[in-house]
Amino acid sequence: MNRFDDVTAHRQALAELGVDCQLEISVRSRTVGISVAPGGLITIRMPRCTEPRDLVEIVRRRMEWLARARVQQMASAPAHPVKRMVEGESYSLLGRNHRLRFVDLDDHSVRVRGNWLEVAREAPTTMAAEIIDWYKRCGREWLDQQLPRWALLLGVPFPHTRIEDLGTRWGHCDQNGIVRFHWALFQVPNSLVELVLAHELVHLTEPGHGARFQRTLARLIPDHHARFEALTVVGSRSWMGRVESSMPPSGI
Ligand SMILES: [Zn+2]
Repeated sequence: MNRFDDVTAHRQALAELGVDCQLEISVRSRTVGISVAPGGLITIRMPRCTEPRDLVEIVRRRMEWLARARVQQMASAPAHPVKRMVEGESYSLLGRNHRLRFVDLDDHSVRVRGNWLEVAREAPTTMAAEIIDWYKRCGREWLDQQLPRWALLLGVPFPHTRIEDLGTRWGHCDQNGIVRFHWALFQVPNSLVELVLAHELVHLTEPGHGARFQRTLARLIPDHHARFEALTVVGSRSWMGRVESSMPPSGI
């Protein structure tokens, strides 16, 4: 590797711009090429001698196009991705992408450093379980911050909450007033998690989805229909914990 193959500075500059992408050096091309794959993964190919500041300038000029292309390609991604548990894979927390990186960790199994999600290298299913636990911890933190405000707005006492695997549901409020959230919910943007939280809190006083339920929810979240539509799209592309199996079939 010579100095032209080192893309650390380029990556850093793009991260500052908020662009999470796969960066490749192209020996042949003379211009910077940007593409967006189904699922929203951005790939940028650049000629060898591209300076970081020039790259940032080129990407900055195409930000509007990039945002549009990304939304389109995210919507066309195969539903519920199966993760490969490889470095560079994207994991979203409240709508913000983090890329997987393997590191030596003593006291944590998962931690966030900038745009990286750092994980101790283990078997894929073990790493997936660690990441799911991390989503649960982040979800707990988010709930502890948000729940008081929303409960006050609604005038309901703080319910007991749990974060677990709810299958195909994002949230659930049972007859005992225990409110549950799917750990996978905490991948989607803040405004969409709020929608699920508000929805379940309204259920503390309104069991069904009738007119009173709709009125109360609309008072809390006037654009709840739009948020619901967004949640349907974004949520259907969220990771639900499935991992690609690299084990050969056992034949038993
Ligand atoms: Zn409901």
